[in-house]
Amino acid sequence: MIRAGQHPLPVAQYLRLREQIPALYGLLSVNAAILAYTHRALAPRFLVLTVPAILITACTLRMLMWMRPISSADLEVNVVRRRMHGTVALAIVMSVAYVSWALVLDGYGGPYEHGHVAIFVAVTVLGCIFCLTFLPLAALLVALSVLGTFLAYSFAQATEVLIAIALNISLVTAVVLKILRDYYGSFISLETSQRDLQNERRQAQSLSEDNARLAQTDALTGLPNRRYFFSTLEGLLSRAGPRDVFTVGLIDLDRFKPINDTHGHAHGDRLLRAIGQRMINQCPPDTVVARLGGDEFGLIVLDGPAKAESVTQALCQAIREQVRIGDMVVSVGCSAGLAVFPETGTSADLLFDRADFALYHAKKEKRGQCVRFSDKLERLIRSEQAIDAALQAADLRSEVSLVFQPIVGTDNLQPIGAECLARWTSRSLGQISPELLIAAAERVGRAREVALVLFDQAIAALAHLPAPMRISFNLSGHNLCDVDTITALLDRLAASRCEPSRLLFEITETSLITDMEIADAALRRLRDTGASIALDDFGTGYSSLSSLHKLPLDVVKIDRSFAARLDEASGRRLITAIRNLARSLSLECVIEGIETESQLISARLAGFSLAQGYFIARPMTLDILLEQLRQKHAELWNAA
Ligand code: C2E
Ligand code: CA
Ligand code: CA
Repeated sequence: MIRAGQHPLPVAQYLRLREQIPALYGLLSVNAAILAYTHRALAPRFLVLTVPAILITACTLRMLMWMRPISSADLEVNVVRRRMHGTVALAIVMSVAYVSWALVLDGYGGPYEHGHVAIFVAVTVLGCIFCLTFLPLAALLVALSVLGTFLAYSFAQATEVLIAIALNISLVTAVVLKILRDYYGSFISLETSQRDLQNERRQAQSLSEDNARLAQTDALTGLPNRRYFFSTLEGLLSRAGPRDVFTVGLIDLDRFKPINDTHGHAHGDRLLRAIGQRMINQCPPDTVVARLGGDEFGLIVLDGPAKAESVTQALCQAIREQVRIGDMVVSVGCSAGLAVFPETGTSADLLFDRADFALYHAKKEKRGQCVRFSDKLERLIRSEQAIDAALQAADLRSEVSLVFQPIVGTDNLQPIGAECLARWTSRSLGQISPELLIAAAERVGRAREVALVLFDQAIAALAHLPAPMRISFNLSGHNLCDVDTITALLDRLAASRCEPSRLLFEITETSLITDMEIADAALRRLRDTGASIALDDFGTGYSSLSSLHKLPLDVVKIDRSFAARLDEASGRRLITAIRNLARSLSLECVIEGIETESQLISARLAGFSLAQGYFIARPMTLDILLEQLRQKHAELWNAA
């Protein structure tokens, strides 16, 4: 059976507690004896003999139990955990018993005896929490129950000095608790790094499989690491019999990168640690969960696809729960891909690649879901390979062209510009969508070439369009982050006679997120020429408009998925809010994907002055666009 996430930390914690808990019981017993002694002539015998005798006996028994020699069975993680839970409960019971007894004694004696009771409470609570440093939960609960009882008692007595003492003790306890928590935190990190160090050493010394596994732990999350994942997978494959079935899975976090980039790596690490812990808790015994690197996790489920899917869904569910980091609450999504042995592949590389492809497909088409590698994906891989091969052989200048979709004013439907959209008619495959073209161009390393061929056509078209009509040119994330592409675009722009102010570059949020700094520098270079920048498909990504205010943007294009929502009141409110926010940031707004007259009217009423969509005009060749412009011009001319 494979087990993930074995954690020896509780054992280290237990061993440290063993050194301190006997002292705690000793302290309680001695203090109780002294308090009983000072009250011996003042309180009834029952209170100064019987009760302390019971308390001290209980303490002594517990002390002896903690001091007894231990065997290796005592150091099983489960045994240790059970004992520590018992200790937490008992610590509360004992401390409340002691304090209640002391407060009953407070009813006897003069000012010195009252003082002694107060000191007893203070010393007891501080002593207890010091001795419970390695069990911070118990320390906190003891402090809360003792001080709660004491505060309630002092308020009930309504004695000013007593209340002041109670508040004083509470304050000191709070500070001590904070210091102890920090100390405990450094103990944990020291333990973790020592364990990693030990694991490394052990691996070097011993070839035993178990020790090697211990060394294959990811330091950040405590999960097994990539090495462990692959050695387990190889091991399973080498031992697999004819009837064996198991599933390899990959989980990738959505929106992790922006959180890491915006809030810093320390926050990112804490988020990963929290997610790792949840995965450890959620992981069933016949499953391995490993962190493969970054925000990618691997699974091996010793079962077929149905069980693997339910395990993966449960893990994804646990990942999606909100995480509190400092004073911030964040949540990330995740997508997953699965590949089943033996039906999908019989080698580690093939299983991994296909799970990876299923994951890629999930991220692209079914974000947030778990996708299993299937015959359909197999065909898709083949078609991707066919597209890649066709693009590698393509003569870009003759196969790739532009069509133009007008962008109009919502009041008079007059075009103020047009968006250039790529079209690829492959000699071997026929029409291929621009999204597939762009993705394939990146895969086969022709992204720059494709962008430049299209840009040449765009500036040539601009020369034919009547001023002040503008054209919009789409730049992919790859284009934007490639310094040489930007330089080549600028060179071509400078060599042409076109006015840069009539040019608009459309970029998407995803292209910004790949590398914010490089993208920002590229945008500034483009904008320095006098060209404008539009943020495309706004609303589909994770950024908020306000987080983008530092970027050099001029226009926001609201994604076409919002246009359909113009038919509902709630959608209209949302779109109006986006519109107002854009206006407050001095950004021009275009609404895309207007497909009906009523959407156009709603867009106008929501305050959009510019729109684009099939209802207004479909993308068309330059010749048709010019012809339509001429006709419109003639109509206006005749009307005048
Ligand atoms: P996009 O930049 O958001 O372009 C708008 C897409 O929406 C176009 O699809 C357009 O035909 C379509 N569209 C316009 N009005 C409507 C409407 O009313 N309803 C609906 N359902 N769709 C509408 P197209 O031409 O297939 O382009 C798809 C995407 O491919 C573009 O989305 C853009 O991301 C990318 N793309 C196209 N041309 C280029 C290019 O030259 N370079 C780069 N990097 N990407 C391009
Ligand atoms: Ca666009
Ligand atoms: Ca768009």
